[in-house]
Amino acid sequence: MNNKVSIAVTPERRIVDAMAAAHPPAPLSEQERHDLVDKTRALLVEKDAVLVAHYYVDAGLQALADESGGFVADSLEMARFGHQHPATTLVVAGVRFMGETAKILNPEKRVLMPELTAECSLDLSCPIQAFAEYCDAHPERTSVVYANTSAEVKARADWVVTSGIALDVVRHLHSQGEKILWAPDRHLGAYIQRQTDADMLLWPGSCIVHEAFKGDAMIRLMQKHPDARVLVHPESPAGVIDLADVVGSTTALIKAAQSMDATKFIVATDRGIFYKMKQAAPHKTFIEAPVAGEGATCISCAHCPWMEMNGLQNLADILESGENEITIDEQIRQKALRSVQKMIDFRQRRSTPVRELITA
Ligand code: SF4
Repeated sequence: MNNKVSIAVTPERRIVDAMAAAHPPAPLSEQERHDLVDKTRALLVEKDAVLVAHYYVDAGLQALADESGGFVADSLEMARFGHQHPATTLVVAGVRFMGETAKILNPEKRVLMPELTAECSLDLSCPIQAFAEYCDAHPERTSVVYANTSAEVKARADWVVTSGIALDVVRHLHSQGEKILWAPDRHLGAYIQRQTDADMLLWPGSCIVHEAFKGDAMIRLMQKHPDARVLVHPESPAGVIDLADVVGSTTALIKAAQSMDATKFIVATDRGIFYKMKQAAPHKTFIEAPVAGEGATCISCAHCPWMEMNGLQNLADILESGENEITIDEQIRQKALRSVQKMIDFRQRRSTPVRELITA
């Protein structure tokens, strides 16, 4: 008799396992850091490669991307920059779906990542089979997925959007009388739903970093800093979004920090963004939003454990070895490209610039 019990691996279990497996790179001495920067610079030239980094990775990697002719941005802009750059290899410092997005838009280029197991809780929460079944159960709805999804989910969706354009796309679809199936971030979906009144079914995913921000602790911090303005990424819970002066994408929050009159900001997103915020507004003060109430513990502490896996050592290693290349089945890539391209075309068709600032 077979006593084995088969247990389905739930998305929640995958997230917990992936968090347990996410180890930050070993700390480096100043000398080691210096030597690795020199080595990586030389390797980028030798391998005809360019480094594109996300706002949430280590500040040293962002600086290296800047000074070596690469780019620091959100996931779509990273992929678009890679497309325009003549280098034949793109090195993506971020999490896996970002490497995949770069490959979707740049099939002719080699895309390498310092760490292929750098996950995202939103991506993990939305496995392709469950998502496809959900779409099949609601054929009357237009599926709109966030960029933080696998290539397979992007291929199955009608639209792919980033946080900078999600509101405009859903508002447009709503005006056409379409009902939406939204995945995977429930907080961003709920925010868009409140703003547009669109008929939206929301997938129950969330970002472990933004989910941890707490409204009550935020109120206490705001009372301590009454002159500070509050900048919030819309992946945060509604109780935090409601306290914001500005709600917007990473790019929008950096622009707000630079352009607003205030000199002090409380920022509710991954603290990796402070590198670019301080560069954009060097004389202003930035304070991390609180991630838990008094006496509580946080699981991510305002920093993504998977973004943190990117380091100088594994970056130099993969440039040298050519390992950790992103590959995507060509049929899936083409279908995913169709959904991504819809967003790009939508942005270009609009006579007014894409809404970059979403003021609450
Ligand atoms: S910060 Fe959140 S949304 Fe971004 S990669 Fe990490 S888990 Fe995903």
